[in-house]
Formats: sequence, structure tokens, C-alpha cells
Amino acid sequence: MSKYGVIVCPKCGLAKGVEANKKTTSCQCGREIVLARTKLMFLSDSPLELAESVAKANAALRGGKDLPRERRSKSKDPYASIAERAKVIKDPIERMRVIARGLSELKTEFTIEDVRKVTSVLGKDAPEDIIARLQEHNLIYETGDGTYRSI
Ligand SMILES: [Zn+2]
Repeated sequence: MSKYGVIVCPKCGLAKGVEANKKTTSCQCGREIVLARTKLMFLSDSPLELAESVAKANAALRGGKDLPRERRSKSKDPYASIAERAKVIKDPIERMRVIARGLSELKTEFTIEDVRKVTSVLGKDAPEDIIARLQEHNLIYETGDGTYRSI
């Protein structure tokens, strides 16, 4: 059986290293914790490993609240954000124009594949239709072989 483990205080939510054979331990917040009723994590025989585990557990517990915000800003896909902007627009031509403008800002010139990346998130309008309708309305022009730019 491992000598040490990590517990999370049910009162203050902080991780703490304990000797696994002890019956109780008291947290720095003053709470007396009965080990038999608490889940021991990161079981180990090494005090050094235990200290690392406590630090890691506390970092994870603290970081847990900030994680969603970080994740959102990091994984913000430019195509998804164009789709988000376009999504709220009811008028289809206006919606397509916003997509074309977003892609032009992003890449200067865009292809039907870029449009597809937006429409796959958006779930509306076929990319072929978007290109055709926008050309029809003179809202984009073809800059080369299969590349477009918004007016
Ligand atoms: Zn506590």
C-alpha cells in the first residue's frame, strides 16, 4: 500500500498531501478531514512525488475556473467567427456578403473551400450558391482561377 496520497478539502477545496495510514488530518482552513470518507488521489511512496502531486492538483483546481476563457480565445477559429457574424443576418444576400467580406479581410483572396469552411460551421447556404449569388449581385469578383475578392 502506498504511503502518501492527495486529498481535496471538502470545505475550502484545496489539495493537501496526507499519510495514507492516518485516520484524520486537519486542513489549513481548520476543517478536520476523515480520510476514510475522502478519496485519496495520486497515491505514492515518495514524499517528493507527493509534493509535486499536491502542487499539480492545486494548480489544476485553481486553473479550472480560468480554463474555459483561455480555451475560447485560443481556439477561436477565424472561419467560425465569420460564421458567427453571418449567422444573425436574416437576409441571405447580406449574409453572403458578410461572409465574403470576412474572408477578404482574412485572406485578401478566397476560394470556394474557404467559403465551405464558413458554411460548414454556419449550416446554411451551399458554398457554390454563395459564390454564384454574390457574383450575380456584383458583390465579389473573380481575381484569378477560382479565387475571389469582395467588392
Ligand atoms: Zn480546507
